[in-house]
Amino acid sequence: MARFIFVTGGVVSSLGKGLSSASLAYLLKSQGYKVRVRKMDPYLNVDPGTMSPFQHGEVFVTDDGAETDLDLGHYERFTNISSKKSDNITTGKIYSDIIQKERKGKYLGKTVQVIPHVTDRIKEFIKGDITNEDFVICEIGGTVGDIESLPFVEAIRQFSNEVGKNKSLFIHLTLVPFLKSSDEIKTKPTQHSVKELRSLGIQPDIVICRSQKSIPLDQKKKISLFCNVSIENVIETVDVRTIYEAPISFYNEKLDKQVLKYFKLRARKKVNLLPWKKITKSVLSKKRTVNIAIIGKYVNLKDAYKSLDEALIHGGIRNNIKVNLVRIESDKLKPFQVKKLLKNVSGILIPGGFGKRGTEGKISAINYARKHKIPFLGICFGMQMAVIEFARNVLKIKKAGSSELDKKCYPVIGLLNEWNKNGKLIKGTNIDLGGTMRLGLYEAKLRHNSLIQKIYKSKSIFERHRHRYEVNNQFLNSFEKKGMLFSGMSPDNKLPEIIELKNHPWFIGVQFHPEFKSRPLNPHPLFSSFIKAAKFY
Ligand code: GLN
Repeated sequence: MARFIFVTGGVVSSLGKGLSSASLAYLLKSQGYKVRVRKMDPYLNVDPGTMSPFQHGEVFVTDDGAETDLDLGHYERFTNISSKKSDNITTGKIYSDIIQKERKGKYLGKTVQVIPHVTDRIKEFIKGDITNEDFVICEIGGTVGDIESLPFVEAIRQFSNEVGKNKSLFIHLTLVPFLKSSDEIKTKPTQHSVKELRSLGIQPDIVICRSQKSIPLDQKKKISLFCNVSIENVIETVDVRTIYEAPISFYNEKLDKQVLKYFKLRARKKVNLLPWKKITKSVLSKKRTVNIAIIGKYVNLKDAYKSLDEALIHGGIRNNIKVNLVRIESDKLKPFQVKKLLKNVSGILIPGGFGKRGTEGKISAINYARKHKIPFLGICFGMQMAVIEFARNVLKIKKAGSSELDKKCYPVIGLLNEWNKNGKLIKGTNIDLGGTMRLGLYEAKLRHNSLIQKIYKSKSIFERHRHRYEVNNQFLNSFEKKGMLFSGMSPDNKLPEIIELKNHPWFIGVQFHPEFKSRPLNPHPLFSSFIKAAKFY
C-alpha cells in the first residue's frame, strides 16, 4: 500500500510548498520509489481554467486535458512524471460533485454535510486512481488557519487515522523570519502555526522552516521543543540561488532521509543529484546572454507564464547561454514603438492569450519579426496573431481577424465547433466556458522536409492544447502560395497545428503549448532550437 505524505503551509503563503513537494518527489523517485504528487486547492472555482492570470498565475494543462494549478508544472518538471486530471482537486469541484449526487438522490434522504460528505469526497480524491505508487505526496493549497482549507485539514486528519501513522506523514512548511533590526531569527510564527495545526488535530512529523539565513542549533532546538518534533525533523530551507538547486538543498538537509526513516524504509538506489548540480552551475555561471522579448498581457505578473519562462531557460541550458527575458506589455506596445523596443532582442515570442486587449501591439511585433527576419515563436494565440498579420499584410486582406475578437472581421481564425479525439467527434462550445476548449494532448503530423520536422526529428508529435479557436482551413492554399506553410496538421488534415515561413530563417507558430512539456533535465526541442536561432541571429 502507498504511503501518504501531506504537505501543509503556515504563517504566510508563497513559501514554496510546491517546490518542496516537487523536490521531495524527485529525491524519492531518484532512490527507486514510485511517486505521485497531488494538489488540493481550497478555492471555489471548479478548476483554475476560468481564472485570470492576475488571480492565479498560469493555468497548467495536463496530457489528459485538465486545467490545473501551476504547481503541477513544478511536479512534472522535477519528477518528469506526467500529472493527470486526478491529481488536482478544488473545493469547487468537490461541492459540484456532491451537489450533482445530491440532485440525483444518491444520498438516500440523508442531510448532506461537510463531515462526512465533503471530507469523504476529499479522502476519495487522495486515494483515488493510484496503482502501485510507493508514495503519494499531497499538497494542500493556502495556509493553515484559512477558513477555506479547514475541510481539507480535517480530511487528512481522518485519513491518517484510518490508514495509520505508519502509512501517513505530515510535513508542515513555515516561515522563520530574520529580523534585521535585532539581528535575530524568530521562531514564534512557526510555534504559532504548528499550534494552530495541532488545534485541528494534526501533529506535524516534520517541520520545514523557510528562512533567509541558516537557523542556529539553539533555535532549531526551540522549534523542536515547542512544536513537539524531533530535532532531526526540523529541516531548514534557506533561499536557493535558482530553483534547480532546491533538490540539492533538501538532500543536504536530509529531508528525504528523514522521510524514509519515518516509514522505516531504505533507499533502493543512490540518489542522483548530478543533473541538478550541472544545471545549477550552468544557470549561475556568467556567460553570454541572449535577449528574448516576450510580448503578452500579463508579462509583469510573476507566474503568469511560468512554464514558458522555464522552457526558455531550459532552451538556454541546452545552448549554454543565459536567456534574458525582455518583458513587454502588449497593450503598451504601440506600432511606432516596435522598432525602438525590439531593436536589441534576438528573438520574439508571443505567448498564448485571450481577448482583444493588446492584440494590435502583438501583430505589429510579428510584422517586425517577419520583415527583419528575427527568430519568432508564436504560441497558440501567438500563432493565430501571426496568421492574421500575414493575411493582412501579405495577402492584403485588410479585415482579416479572429472571430474571438471581432464578429465582423474576415475570419482567418474561427471558432472551433468540433474536432476529433481518438476517432471520436467532440463538439466545442463557447457558452459554458469551463473545461470546454480543445484541451490536452493531440497528435500533429509534420510535413516532410519542413523546419519543424528537422527540429522534432519526427513525423508525428503529441502536444498539449488549450484553445477554442482554430486557423480557418478554407484559406490554406492562398497562404501557402505566398510562403506561409502549414507544416503540421491534425491527423485528419483538418486543423492547422503549425505554421512556418518559407523565406525566413526561423519563424514558427504552434497552435499548442510546447512549454508544458519542457523539462530542465530534458529541454523541449522547439525551445532549444528557438534559443539556438536567437543565439546566432
Ligand atoms: N484565445 C485563443 C483561443 O481560444 C488562444 C488561446 C491560447 O492562446 N491558449 O483559441
